[in-house]
Amino acid sequence: MRGARGPVHLGINGQSIPVLPNGAWIAWLPLPDDTVAQFLFAATAGPDSSRFVFTARIAPQFRPPAGRAAWIDTTSFTPAGSLALPLGEGIPLSVHAASNATVRLLLPWGSSVPLVPDSSPPALPGGLRAFTIDTAPRRLAPGEPGRRYVGWLPAAALCVDGRTACATLVVTVENDSATARWPLAVSLEDMAFPTVVVLDDDTARSGTTDSLTPGRAVPHGTYNWFFPTGTVAVESGRWSDQVRLALSRTAVAWVNAGDVVPLPTGTPPPGGVVSSVRLTSGPKSVTLRVPLPARLPYQVTERERSLTLRLYGGASDINWMQYGASGTTGTDPLVTRMSYAQPAADELTITLELARRVWGYRVRFDGRDLLLEVRRPPVVDPARPLRGRTIALDPGHPPLGARGPTGLWEPVATLAVALKAKTLLERSGASVLLTRTDTTAVELYPRTRFAELHDADILVSIHANALPDGINPFTNSGTSVYYFHPRSTRLARELDRALVAELGVRDLGIGRGDYALARPTWMPAALTEALFIMLPDQEAMLASEDGQWRYARGVVNGIENFLRERAREP
Ligand SMILES: [Zn+2]
Repeated sequence: MRGARGPVHLGINGQSIPVLPNGAWIAWLPLPDDTVAQFLFAATAGPDSSRFVFTARIAPQFRPPAGRAAWIDTTSFTPAGSLALPLGEGIPLSVHAASNATVRLLLPWGSSVPLVPDSSPPALPGGLRAFTIDTAPRRLAPGEPGRRYVGWLPAAALCVDGRTACATLVVTVENDSATARWPLAVSLEDMAFPTVVVLDDDTARSGTTDSLTPGRAVPHGTYNWFFPTGTVAVESGRWSDQVRLALSRTAVAWVNAGDVVPLPTGTPPPGGVVSSVRLTSGPKSVTLRVPLPARLPYQVTERERSLTLRLYGGASDINWMQYGASGTTGTDPLVTRMSYAQPAADELTITLELARRVWGYRVRFDGRDLLLEVRRPPVVDPARPLRGRTIALDPGHPPLGARGPTGLWEPVATLAVALKAKTLLERSGASVLLTRTDTTAVELYPRTRFAELHDADILVSIHANALPDGINPFTNSGTSVYYFHPRSTRLARELDRALVAELGVRDLGIGRGDYALARPTWMPAALTEALFIMLPDQEAMLASEDGQWRYARGVVNGIENFLRERAREP
């Protein structure tokens, strides 16, 4: 019906759906409890009318077998796949099976472990919990059959390469029982003589990556560490395509198995003494040089006016912490105090307290030394905060990008907004760098690399939002802005405030989001999701000159307000 003249009336399964004059519409409809969903469309425009049926396929859900008291949902085994752990380490088990059952996991050596009914209420998927305000439709129906059982299996060789037998789950309800092989193989990690690995996120030598391997607290979890290529660590477990590193006796990180290269058998675990450290002053930064016994795993923790470097496997012999550096005179004013601590036998921290709030930093290995480079904040004129600033704008996508109901493609809208914001920023005396200027696809890393190479003072990535099936866009749409590092929280807040003022849609607020474009450490960075391209009215705003100027003004005002606030810093 796109392009139809006059008001269009659209009904789907009898529900009336509003249609914009440009033909755009979006509907939120329940799905039947089936693998096939049929939608009857009925549209009228003046004397014309049209009807058709759209059939959607829905992924099948597990259904208990009819007429059986005992059953096992064989899609629910957790964990499944291959696992490697030190002997005896506990593996949490979970499975969905018939209610009121006795559940046991039979082990090939004759013993068994019990599984007990899970007493905690069912969890919502994490993504839904984060995004949807209206979760009721997705809660498990109270009448849903069966329940979840949980257990604890001490690691032992199981089901490996056909050499050892597998575990069998037995579910018994009165006189009926069901059995299934638990699809899990367990091999053992030798921690007495451990495997030492080196991290390399670009084993193919494509040169297109950031040379950082992200570490996560749980397999496939969100990023919590960023290990440069060359970092050496001890492997302490594997689960399918994830490897667990023992950073210290108490800290572990999961990384992608593809980034892990084992060193020759017999390589000793990394660790040893960290000796005296020194600062070096440069025109745009102050650099801390830390001599290490090996390329140890590390983590930098940022606070408002301090940076703490945590070295795993290091022990302090830091006799000297020198503020003055060769080639310069006196003490650099940016770093007010250095200190170190040894919170555990194999964890060492070095803290730099700063005279100014953190603007940015970066870390790299130089041979075996670690360099922590602290960026000097720019000198901002509170009367004209944008004058002389270098602002990197990132028009989000391609690759990928959402599409609106009439087909407007997100990268087309984000580039139009970025070009308008560039005009406004330049009028206020800033120089503007765009990470792309046409529809050629640009990967994420080259975008942040570009901003860093040009020492951009601020990076803002411009996007338009969409939601997946299952989250109601009518109750969950609006303006939101994401940051990753603490220094960018204020930038996100100012952008959100300015965008809401310009665009007048619902304020979803700011959020911390694990986005590549929000993660650079060298400058404050934020990602704006000011409008929902999937909603007809907001798609129309994104397509219009007026809407694009308003989005652009919101971005510019947000950046300017952030800079003005930082200029007033005592
Ligand atoms: Zn996007």
